[in-house]
Amino acid sequence: MTNDQLPTEKQLLPLPEPHFSNRIELMKEARTLAQRAWLESGQVSDLCLNPAGLAEFYGYTLYEDEFNPADLPPDSPLYANSSLVKAADSGLIEITLEKRDPIPRQRFSMAHEIGHLMWFREHMSKDEFRATPIRVWRHAANRPLDDEEYFRTNPHDYFADMFAHMFLIPNSTAARLADPELTIDFKLEAQRLKVSEETLRNRLYYYYLELANSSIATPPKDFASV
Ligand SMILES: [Zn+2]
Repeated sequence: MTNDQLPTEKQLLPLPEPHFSNRIELMKEARTLAQRAWLESGQVSDLCLNPAGLAEFYGYTLYEDEFNPADLPPDSPLYANSSLVKAADSGLIEITLEKRDPIPRQRFSMAHEIGHLMWFREHMSKDEFRATPIRVWRHAANRPLDDEEYFRTNPHDYFADMFAHMFLIPNSTAARLADPELTIDFKLEAQRLKVSEETLRNRLYYYYLELANSSIATPPKDFASV
């Protein structure tokens, strides 16, 4: 895809906005779409779920590149972890990963971008989705420290992040690791799952948050914030 074929910022609209009244509602939909993604693609194994296999299954092209600050929108930080470009009508969908990122971060970025696409496919008609160009960048550093604030101010990225957490670490795995009797070696478990320790901690936080909202349990202090 050449540069002048890329959609401009203005062409990004209109895209459907996430409309969840709270994080739990969003979490449920993210999990439903993650489960559908495993089932559709045959990625049903519990461990090391493979976003590259999912991209291939859906026909998305994956690239690795070193992002050049000059290619980024002017108001963005000087570093990007990934980008997603979907052309109008041709059906071409490209996900580019920052090649200097470690594998766990690349896997998360891939799952994040696929999460955006899952959202749009779910909330647009086939014709609308085909006709709409999309171009987004992911910067992990853009995420505010406060989870609720992130949900309120950037629901698209919050959803894509949630999809990535749900896809990379299914509920059954989170439930096993959330056992209060268990002392978790975060480093080892994260290595096994091929995710960063931060992703694993966040995923357990979301697991506890959902439990707390089901009035079954409250999050332990360690997971009070991410
Ligand atoms: Zn994003």
